[in-house]
Amino acid sequence: MTTPAAEALNSEQRIPTEKDVDTVSRQLGRPARDIVEIGARCVCGNPLVATTAPRLSSGIPFPTTYYLTHPVATSACSRVEAEGLMVTMNEQLAEDPELAKAYAAAHEHYLAVRDAIGKRSGVGEVPEIAGVSAGGMPDRVKCIHVLVGHSLAAGPGTNPLGDQALEAISEWWRPDVCSCAGAWDTEGPAPSKDKSRHVRTQAGDPEQKRIERAAKRAAEKAEGN
Ligand SMILES: [Zn+2]
Repeated sequence: MTTPAAEALNSEQRIPTEKDVDTVSRQLGRPARDIVEIGARCVCGNPLVATTAPRLSSGIPFPTTYYLTHPVATSACSRVEAEGLMVTMNEQLAEDPELAKAYAAAHEHYLAVRDAIGKRSGVGEVPEIAGVSAGGMPDRVKCIHVLVGHSLAAGPGTNPLGDQALEAISEWWRPDVCSCAGAWDTEGPAPSKDKSRHVRTQAGDPEQKRIERAAKRAAEKAEGN
């Protein structure tokens, strides 16, 4: 028997309500797509991390399971990225074998939990992205947002660099304090779920393009094996 991978929320807390999906759309400023669960919540209950199935409804493999959505947290991550935190972390990884080992284990956790999410969301296995996680894992750091999303969804002690990133952003955002007031537009309708607009938004979304390119590379890599 393998132990189930750690997750911060229980199965009931992970269920996305209609209000959660609406909130995520407002947080992102675009329609939330293919959310199957909420990976982490603010102390007030609002989503912090949207959990995406490993395959989108469009059929595209999607390696980034945990997407950090809270605008205050995401901008804090961008800030420490701009200050060079990824460079420091990559140096640490090169110099500290214990850390490198723990980070590689975090990668395995990410894969295990994504498998579990694929199963329970009915998506099943996604061979195109087998062994491919996110954020630069297992041996590099390429995105602080991914690491923080992972740490929040897994809870402390799973992703050492995600935990370290949370510490680094704590001056601007921290998980034990609600920073939701005024963080996104709560007036008027949430970003539309209308299909035509949906497609336009996707086409102009650099993050989505990046993810699609990564999925394509992962698929090519998987084919080459
Ligand atoms: Zn809150």
